[in-house]
Amino acid sequence: MANVPVHEWTLLEAARRVREKEISSRELTGAILARIEALDPKVHAYITVLPEAAAAQAAACDEEQAKGALRGPFHGVPIGLKDIFCTRGVRTTCGSRILRDFLPPYDACVTEKVLAAGAVLPGKHNMDEFAMGSSTETSFFGPTRNPWDLSRIPGGSSGGTAAAVAAAMCFAGVGTDTGGSIRQPASLCGVVGVKPTYGRVSRYGMIAFASSLDQGGPIARTVADAAALLGVIAGYDRRDSTCVNLPVPDYLAAVERQVKGLRVGLPKEYYEGEGFSPEVRAAVEKALKALTDQGAVVVEVSLPHTSFALSTYYLIAPAEASSNLARYDGVRYGHRAEGAPGLIEMMSRTRAEGFGDEVKRRIMIGTYALSAGYYDAYYGKAQKVRTLIRDDFTKAFEAADVLLTPTAPTPAFRLGEKTGDPLTMYLSDIFTIPCNLAGIPGISVPCGFSAEGLPIGAQLLSKPFREETLFTAAGAIERVLPSRRVAPLEG
Ligand code: GLN
Repeated sequence: MANVPVHEWTLLEAARRVREKEISSRELTGAILARIEALDPKVHAYITVLPEAAAAQAAACDEEQAKGALRGPFHGVPIGLKDIFCTRGVRTTCGSRILRDFLPPYDACVTEKVLAAGAVLPGKHNMDEFAMGSSTETSFFGPTRNPWDLSRIPGGSSGGTAAAVAAAMCFAGVGTDTGGSIRQPASLCGVVGVKPTYGRVSRYGMIAFASSLDQGGPIARTVADAAALLGVIAGYDRRDSTCVNLPVPDYLAAVERQVKGLRVGLPKEYYEGEGFSPEVRAAVEKALKALTDQGAVVVEVSLPHTSFALSTYYLIAPAEASSNLARYDGVRYGHRAEGAPGLIEMMSRTRAEGFGDEVKRRIMIGTYALSAGYYDAYYGKAQKVRTLIRDDFTKAFEAADVLLTPTAPTPAFRLGEKTGDPLTMYLSDIFTIPCNLAGIPGISVPCGFSAEGLPIGAQLLSKPFREETLFTAAGAIERVLPSRRVAPLEG
């Protein structure tokens, strides 16, 4: 590790070195802030950078440590947050004009937990507006670029977090995943991303997109880092009624476990689809070989309702979004249009100005699907299909312990390539969406590069609350296919 630059250390390595006083939090945080200053003008992974606040936090960590106190496992280490997690007194925009100046009066549960673990907050990460998108191009603040190739998108909606982690502008970050928004950008940026089981991580203070699908989860450069960070943010919170009261296992211990005898299911529907690049196929085959070489066994499974997942998601997610976003009315908080003659005009102008096109599109689809005459035909029907999709997984997990699939159909595409055609954009999440509909956990782990040097990820899925199995399998892939996780990007 001697000649690895400070910003490239893993999260666990950085935490250990602070703990053992090999480096101060001030120096560590300084290295990250310098990196952000040099590279973020190109990458634009941050909506808000907090140089003074982060330096002050780091100084406080050093002082406390000098007195013998450590806040937690990440004492003094910079960890970023997607700008969807409320941060008390620090503006939280959700990538939207409508929340451009919103200063939350409270911290999200995830924010509290990350800070209680001792992390320093270097800033808030860019994202698609209200997490609606797969490329970070719908952000009101402008797109994030992929650090492996600045002409390409980083994926989305947690593209800022994935890019910041891949460009070593933080040691790890927390994103959210409603239909793939942690796993797909992690895959496209060559890092590890975990979508926990629905109910594993509290959604309190995490700005809602589609409440029955949203989950927060870690994005990091190694499987062990992601496991350690999930261990910190997971767990019961009475303020989120869907948060499950189960003990949090030692995820880190799971990373080193053996995969001998592990049953790896290959869902045949995922490998039959079109628009799935041969390079992605070859990389995922390497991941499979890494598992079988270590004694895992392959089983073929079927998820027969896979082809309905995308249409089901694009009814349920917009329906829930249209209800969640009704609160942005110019009255309670956020942007308000000036000079409107009455209340209705004020509300409609506020929304017309405050929301971008993709968000408006979703609100329109959602309100339509929920309207009196159509509720049963669309939303009600989609919920029934969702049950069939969930039952497919329950059945597949009788034969398999984990499922292995690609995370995204192609490596990162170019900026602007899909913005004109929402349907092709929606196809980016074809492999990730069923997992959210079923509420199960998933991870994306790097498994290779395209001929052009773009990262490719493999997705693993498991039964609810079996994140440990994901860490074991992803750890086994990582051991055989170690790869560069910091993009070669110079300031
Ligand atoms: N790309 C999907 C969408 O636009 C998923 C986004 C997400 O997971 N937040 O809805």
